[in-house]
Order: sequence, then structure tokens, then C-alpha cells
Amino acid sequence: MPVLTDQVPAHTTRSGPLFSSDKTTVIFVLGGPGAGKGTQCANLVRDYGFKHLSAGDLLREEQDREGSQFGQMIKDYIKDGKIVPKEVTIQLLENRMVEAEKEGKHMILIDGFPRQLDQAISFEEKVCVSAFTLFFDCPEDEMQRRLLDRGKTSGRSDDNIESIKKRFRTFVETSMPVVNAFEKQGKVVKVEAIKTPEEVYQDVKVKLAERGLKVNA
Ligand code: UDP
Ligand code: MG
Repeated sequence: MPVLTDQVPAHTTRSGPLFSSDKTTVIFVLGGPGAGKGTQCANLVRDYGFKHLSAGDLLREEQDREGSQFGQMIKDYIKDGKIVPKEVTIQLLENRMVEAEKEGKHMILIDGFPRQLDQAISFEEKVCVSAFTLFFDCPEDEMQRRLLDRGKTSGRSDDNIESIKKRFRTFVETSMPVVNAFEKQGKVVKVEAIKTPEEVYQDVKVKLAERGLKVNA
């Protein structure tokens, strides 16, 4: 398992993207906390054969990894609904993309990233230019309901009302500008996420087909 080291993350000194977007298809999956990104990504992995990389899951794993120099910092940022410094998150994603390539997987779903413009810019400069962003649009009261429900069993330090409010604020102020910037490039596929998971997924499949992506036969 590749881990972060004390060295400067490799991507920071690179002059161009490590992966060519001709060979590797990166789809960013964005949406507010509780919009259903993880649920829909699981469907997409099953039916399309994507490799799924959840930035939040990778950060939580690094947080819990014994000996990680970033553990406490990650813990504090997540609880507070803030964005962890991008070098850490980008290196965690890149490490998994290198692994995926070794497994011959070139279709990558990046869930919950980029959540801040500088992350988007650095990732596309140093790791891979994205094909497009799948954006799950959901009203805040519905997301709050889902998160509080999930909080009963998730064990997540940020599924409580105080952290949820902070995450909403970060999403609106910091993450929506990323969606808007990709929208200007014609690179956003937007799906209404208020319906049932099955209904939302039907919509996802239709919209992906419009972008030329077909379910694995
Ligand atoms: N996070 C971060 N950078 C990222 C992605 C996630 O710092 O690129 C942190 C942030 O604090 C966020 C938390 O991880 O609030 C949980 O993210 P996750 O994607 O798991 O939450 P979700 O949106 O799926 O509920
Ligand atoms: Mg998630």
C-alpha cells in the first residue's frame, strides 16, 4: 500500500500531468454533503467498471493510518468541515491512480474532489485533465435529513448538526465555484438528486450515454 512520506509530494515538482487524458478517463463526482455521491458511485462501479476513489475515504484512511504525520491535521479539518491542504489529498489520489493503472484500469471516478478551485487546477496540471464533472444537485434540507439519518450509524465525526452546517457553508462558498468553473468549460453533467437512488441512477445513465459512456455488456 503506497503511503505518504515526509518528502515533498511528487506531483508538486512535475511540469505536466502524469496521466494523459487520451488514455485515462477521469470523471469528478461532486455535490453537497449527503447528495448521494457515494451511493451513485457504487452503481457506476458495478455497471461501468470504474475505479472509485473517494477523496473523503482516502483522507479518513490516512487519518487512521498508524504513523501518519497528517493524521491529527486531517481529523481537525474533517470535523470542522474544512478542506484539507490540497497537496495531501492530491498525493493520496495520485497514488491510487498509479495502482489502478497497474491493474489496467483507466476509467476513474473521483468522488468528493475537487472541492476548491486550487485543487481542481493543480490536479489537472499535475495528474490528469478531467473528462467532465458529474454534479448531483440536491436541496440543503434534503441533504441535512439524509446526513442526520446516516449519522445514526455512520460513526463519522462530521455527521452531526454542527459539522453538517459547516460542511454546507464550505460547499456553497468553496466547492460550488469549482462546479461553476467547469460549467463554463462545458464540462458539467448535472443530475437532480432529490429523488430515490434508483430514479437518480436512471437519470445518470441517460446523461452518461449522452456523453458516449455505455454500461458494460
Ligand atoms: N475533504 C477534504 N478534501 C477533499 C475531500 C474531502 O478536505 O478533497 C474533507 C472535508 O473536510 C470534507 C470531509 O473530508 O468535509 C468529508 O468528505 P466526504 O467526501 O467523505 O463527505 P461527503 O461529501 O461524501 O458527505
Ligand atoms: Mg461521500
